[in-house]
Amino acid sequence: MIRSEPDLDKDVVQQMIECGRILTKKGLNNITSGNESVVLNHRAENVGGLVMYITRSSSKLGHLDEPTAIVKTSLGEYDGNMVLASSEADIHKEIHRKRFEAKPDLKSSACAHAHTIHAAVLSMEFEETGIKELRIPEKYRSKRIKGSVPVFVSRYGSGAKDMVENMPGVLMDNPIMILGNHGAFAVGGDPEEALKRLIELEAITEKMVLDRIIPQRDREIEEKVPEGWLDKYAVAGALGQMRYGKTNIKPKTIGELMRRLDSSSSDWVEAQRRYLNEIFDEFREIGRDLTDFSMDPYRRGSLSRRIGNTVYITRTGVDFADLKKEDLLAFEMGEGDRIEPGLCESWLHETIYDGIATNYITHLLPEYSSRYSIYCGEAIVPIDVEGRYVIKKIPVADPGDNILTKENVGTLIDALKSNEKVAYVKGLGGFALGFGELYEPLHYLESAESSVKMITLAEKIGIDVRAKQEMFRKW
Ligand SMILES: [Zn+2]
Repeated sequence: MIRSEPDLDKDVVQQMIECGRILTKKGLNNITSGNESVVLNHRAENVGGLVMYITRSSSKLGHLDEPTAIVKTSLGEYDGNMVLASSEADIHKEIHRKRFEAKPDLKSSACAHAHTIHAAVLSMEFEETGIKELRIPEKYRSKRIKGSVPVFVSRYGSGAKDMVENMPGVLMDNPIMILGNHGAFAVGGDPEEALKRLIELEAITEKMVLDRIIPQRDREIEEKVPEGWLDKYAVAGALGQMRYGKTNIKPKTIGELMRRLDSSSSDWVEAQRRYLNEIFDEFREIGRDLTDFSMDPYRRGSLSRRIGNTVYITRTGVDFADLKKEDLLAFEMGEGDRIEPGLCESWLHETIYDGIATNYITHLLPEYSSRYSIYCGEAIVPIDVEGRYVIKKIPVADPGDNILTKENVGTLIDALKSNEKVAYVKGLGGFALGFGELYEPLHYLESAESSVKMITLAEKIGIDVRAKQEMFRKW
């Protein structure tokens, strides 16, 4: 691995990479949410002379091995790298500063923040802002997490001033705390110690949530989703059940296009090969990311990218964990509705590209949000801080039919145009757009899925979700 900044401490970087990976594997964060930081005590004259390693804003915690994912900034004065650092860097800085001031002999200090869903859901029971306490039932207490865990409910969103004022102090007496409607922060001597605390908290709060589920509520929510819903809702043609007019085009796969390039090594052929490889690599990487977050449990998703007049799209039913060159098809704009049914969602993506000048489209059917779209009404309104930050209100189009067709697809296009980011279709999952990279639309859908998971759990344990949505609306 080659890193662009050779002066980064290799051991610290390695520890951060490893912890980010575990955090992601354990499902403790959204794709780019959460952050970690480490400060080594190199005996500076004062605390302000110490250096903090912190994850960059929007870096993927599961892939901190990317060259620019970790940045270095001073614990003292504000330096240029703070612009790159996580939006929660101010809190990290203040936490470390306080820890070193209290214990100048501390060898190192680490802090990790994750979007622990169950801890966040339990914190929703606190209606007022300020510092609270979550009691841990005796049977769930552990060596690291004892009688109670402090909770801070901020008046505002992420990176808010009241967080910087309140949280570092709380973390001086407790190595772990919950941040209301948001997630958790933990500290330790190294990232591993902080990480273990987060994992333990999430395991305990998950059991607590399960204990609190009200059977009656649980049943009511389950009954809102009709049995066999997955087979009921479909994109016309995508599964082969409907076709439009003449369908005589069989698009080439990226694999075929590459094999067609003759084996000669002229500059043009080389450039072409590199170009196709780059396109494929981007799809493959996002395929792995979305698998990490279980975003396509029913294998109904599709990803596409438009370059000029060409659209690259994934085949229906692919395994995103292991995308192959034969899974990626290329067709020209205008051919979309003449492609053999069952192969891909070509006409649908083509119609969206025709209506909106976007470069990427992602369609996924994640478990929680796809089910929720059936009964939530005209919009998904997140009640967690991250969800509100990414997108306040996600429209849900109702085409008036279970099958999305050319006649009713306008409802989806209008919904997408309303925010140019993301929209859901009743029973058909989410559609999101990207203008710069394929990762963008996944980010919207993954954030929506995690918000809806919290909404569903909150409803099941009897939290007044509508009141929360009203409260957030006032922000
Ligand atoms: Zn956060």
